[in-house]
Amino acid sequence: MDAKIAIIGAGWYGCHLGLMLDAMGCDVSVFEKNSDILGEASGNNQFRLHLGFHYARHSRTRIQSRDGYARFTERYPTLSKPIENNLYVVPKFDSLVDFDTYRLIMFSSGIHFQELRPNEWPKYLKDVDGVLKVDEHVLLTKKARQHFKEKLAGKIRLNTKVEFTEQQGDKAIVNGEEFDFVIDATWGHLADIDYDCFYEPTLLLYYRYKGEGDYPAITMVDGPLCSIYPTENEGIYTLSSVKHTPLGQFETSKEAKQRLRDFTEAELNIKIAEIEAHVKNFVPDFCEHFEYHSPQFNIKTKLLGEHDDRSCYVKTDDRMISVFSGKIDTIFFAAQKVCDYLERYTHGEVTSEKIKSK
Ligand SMILES: Cc1cc2nc3c(=O)[nH]c(=O)nc-3n(C[C@H](O)[C@H](O)[C@H](O)COP(=O)(O)OP(=O)(O)OC[C@H]3O[C@@H](n4cnc5c(N)ncnc54)[C@H](O)[C@@H]3O)c2cc1C
Repeated sequence: MDAKIAIIGAGWYGCHLGLMLDAMGCDVSVFEKNSDILGEASGNNQFRLHLGFHYARHSRTRIQSRDGYARFTERYPTLSKPIENNLYVVPKFDSLVDFDTYRLIMFSSGIHFQELRPNEWPKYLKDVDGVLKVDEHVLLTKKARQHFKEKLAGKIRLNTKVEFTEQQGDKAIVNGEEFDFVIDATWGHLADIDYDCFYEPTLLLYYRYKGEGDYPAITMVDGPLCSIYPTENEGIYTLSSVKHTPLGQFETSKEAKQRLRDFTEAELNIKIAEIEAHVKNFVPDFCEHFEYHSPQFNIKTKLLGEHDDRSCYVKTDDRMISVFSGKIDTIFFAAQKVCDYLERYTHGEVTSEKIKSK
């Protein structure tokens, strides 16, 4: 395929799509407003290579993650690493599902785990209903940055904000330049997107582990609970609380960004206290093992609804393609959809009329 394609956004989605399309013979340009790649959500998250355990309430997300994990570890074997002791814990209280139901959902979804017997449950956990030991990895963002910069050398345009895109005849225009197709991979930050979604500014906290060796990764499920997860940096963990991590819900990206700009030191101190109090409900001696390091701010673009849908969607409108990110390992789902669409389009199997009426 010899199409000239603009990809807007050099996060995990834009970079992975860029590599795929380049390998298919397309002339690819990746536009990135920042001075480096993977600088927004893709470089500021919990760095979990999901396997599906987070999504007991959403089958599509679970299955995309399960399959994405397998493809990710095969395609990018050096960009994530295993965690020796990675535990998903269903507490007796506060979980939206009980342990038996949780285990059954994961088992019937074909996601591999090891169930710990009560005498194997870590002593520092309080009020446990059940524990699964899982194979989820941690993402290695620094290596990923290096990998994509090498493989996409000359194709990424840093410090290049896209102001608008439009279709003119059989071309798509980006910053005045003509392309055959444009892919919006900005997670909804370029323009209003055609999804029922909202923007959620987030606060995660980094902590330094005070002990020797590694502390286990602990994820309390399912619902508004907490997790402690390692990062690629030795001894540094993220602490997340589904209850306290969100800093509001906004209709536009602009409002969500403003919320982060307005966030004060005093609010941060309150949040730290709330998040620590939350995790201590499950890991009472958390503060004896960890010391606060720094905050991490970002914005999640989420679909509206109670369904906990974090799967990936791709929409098309003639020469414009928009990718709505799921989790990082669901890049393969996006790539498959984009590839399928471009092939059908260039073989004349879809017409503009058909596409627009979708
Ligand atoms: C707090 C938090 C925790 C999370 N935890 C996990 C996790 O543990 N595991 C997981 O798999 N996922 C996690 N996610 C989700 C994950 O981070 C996202 O799904 C993923 O990073 C989105 O990738 P992306 O490439 O679509 O978007 P992004 O990484 O946001 O990339 C979009 C890029 O577009 C650029 N851009 C925007 N507008 C323009 C413009 N006008 N012109 C040019 N460039 C532009 C941005 O600068 C950015 O680089 C988490 C997200 C958050 C916020």
